[in-house]
Amino acid sequence: MQLNHADIRRVSLKYVATALFAAVFTAVVVSAFWIWFYSVVPSAPPRVARSGNVVAVQPKNAPPVEIAQQVVVGPAGLAIPVVGIKPEQLTDTFTQARANGRRHDAIDIMAAEGTPVIAAADGTIEKLFFSHGGGGITIYERATDPKWQYYYAHLQRYAPGLAEGQQVKRGQVIAFVDHTGDASPSGPHLHFAINEMAAGQRWWQGTPINPYPLLAGKKASG
Ligand SMILES: [Zn+2]
Repeated sequence: MQLNHADIRRVSLKYVATALFAAVFTAVVVSAFWIWFYSVVPSAPPRVARSGNVVAVQPKNAPPVEIAQQVVVGPAGLAIPVVGIKPEQLTDTFTQARANGRRHDAIDIMAAEGTPVIAAADGTIEKLFFSHGGGGITIYERATDPKWQYYYAHLQRYAPGLAEGQQVKRGQVIAFVDHTGDASPSGPHLHFAINEMAAGQRWWQGTPINPYPLLAGKKASG
């Protein structure tokens, strides 16, 4: 068969139309699949980097375990950052209201003055900061995975020799409990926060996630 110009154009148009249809059809089917996938498969809860080569408690919903004397580790592999505190002593105060209509965005771990505060996970001391009307004596620790930061506040004092840039291990004593800053002297506690850090974010930035489930191995109450 001899094709003239018009025939060729018609045939190529047909091919283009078929190819276009196939492309659009594939795109629609693929996006439909992912929409279905994300609506059916639940998104994973925030995960905190494992601490060094120590694996997390398994299965994930198992209760926290004591890995060393008075160091209790939750399902995310985080140590409860106050020595001697058991998971059942923790209270979820993450969503509680605080001054100026702000949300607490942290957990308060009640303990006697002078109780050792330990690193929740391996990391580097990024900033030692004194916040006069807020956290008092504080520590900002960047996790080994720089996506996470741990914040410890209302401290009495730092562990001797603690310095910015220093690497710390999970369970290492870094400070002591008190009520510096705006905490009540009648209720000394560690104010502990976990911040998710976007690339390039500095120590005063980040987005808080609730430490309670990660330490207590229970669902958040709020
Ligand atoms: Zn607090």
